[in-house]
Amino acid sequence: MRYLDEYRDPGLARGLLDRLRRRATRPWRIMEVCGGQTHTLVRQGIDELLPAGIRMIHGPGCPVCVTPLETLDRAMAVAARPEVTFTSFGDMLRVPGTRTDLLSLRARGADVRVVYSPMDAVRIAVAEPERQVVFLAVGFETTAPANAMAVLHARRLALANFSVLVSHVLVPPAMTALLADPDCEVQAFLAAGHVCAVMGWTQYEPIAARRHVPVVVTGFEPLDLLEGILMAVEQLEEGRGEVENQYARAVRRSGNRPAQQVIGRVFQVTDRTWRGIGHLPASGLQLAPEFAAFDAARRFGVTDLRSAEHPECIAGAILTGAREPTDCAAYGTRCTPRTPLGAPMVSAEGTCAAYYAAGRATVPTRSDP
Ligand code: SF4
Repeated sequence: MRYLDEYRDPGLARGLLDRLRRRATRPWRIMEVCGGQTHTLVRQGIDELLPAGIRMIHGPGCPVCVTPLETLDRAMAVAARPEVTFTSFGDMLRVPGTRTDLLSLRARGADVRVVYSPMDAVRIAVAEPERQVVFLAVGFETTAPANAMAVLHARRLALANFSVLVSHVLVPPAMTALLADPDCEVQAFLAAGHVCAVMGWTQYEPIAARRHVPVVVTGFEPLDLLEGILMAVEQLEEGRGEVENQYARAVRRSGNRPAQQVIGRVFQVTDRTWRGIGHLPASGLQLAPEFAAFDAARRFGVTDLRSAEHPECIAGAILTGAREPTDCAAYGTRCTPRTPLGAPMVSAEGTCAAYYAAGRATVPTRSDP
């Protein structure tokens, strides 16, 4: 398979590992920000092949995991309304809210549908004008352009029955917040290549300069990650703290200008609560006032929700890299992909799900064959 096998070549991987072994003279701790990168690292066993002392810390870059519980509870309150067709990407359906999840709500009769693009939701709104169609717009800078385009399209069509429940988050403020924590052990970052494909990497330059921390824009294949780790280690060994680009085949410094423009047109930066992490200033996107008519939160006005995390779930510590899934008492027993207590066990980008899929230190129970 051209353009894929090249990035999974075992011989090249061994060569990069050898170079890493020669280059690393002392322990280093590197965070891969993106949950997609976590899955590659864990699935391929790359984190276990690294030279002793180089430790990967898993970061908060799972869009499903960081969507706040309050947003999920609000989503379910909206989805339960008889006039609403609630649409979402599939991962979100099984994420636990305080009392239930969207999939259970659908089983009880709510009109909850999986879509593969926000434009699918717009199409449903066109085809079924008697329904109020709501799309759950979550994720990082990667999904924001398509969601913004859907809102623009809905406005062009003058759709009065389409709205979005927005809970977008932004990566650089989360990295800044992690570094500000006095217990933070991260010495270098692998920045998510797809986020940078949209936004470029200029936003990381002040972080790297201020904190003197290497930031390497990195792709998602095994060789991408090995090369990104090597570039980070080389910077650390040389005492540099700069932004470098491993993912040159997909990312330019300035990113994708048209995508940035559509984000800037439809959204504005806002403070945002991250599930498991807390409230971070200027860390999210909300609809700009011009598009307030498409704001599902405003349209349906769900308030007085009492949200509460599952008491056993340590998702906050997992998402900040402070703990690993196997540190959680519920991991692999009371919490599995079939019986998730927290979002990191549900999502295709969740760290707990990555560990579970790779069979890391888990003892399956009879109820989870
Ligand atoms: S294993 Fe389950 S309960 Fe534990 S942190 Fe992960 S998602 Fe939460």
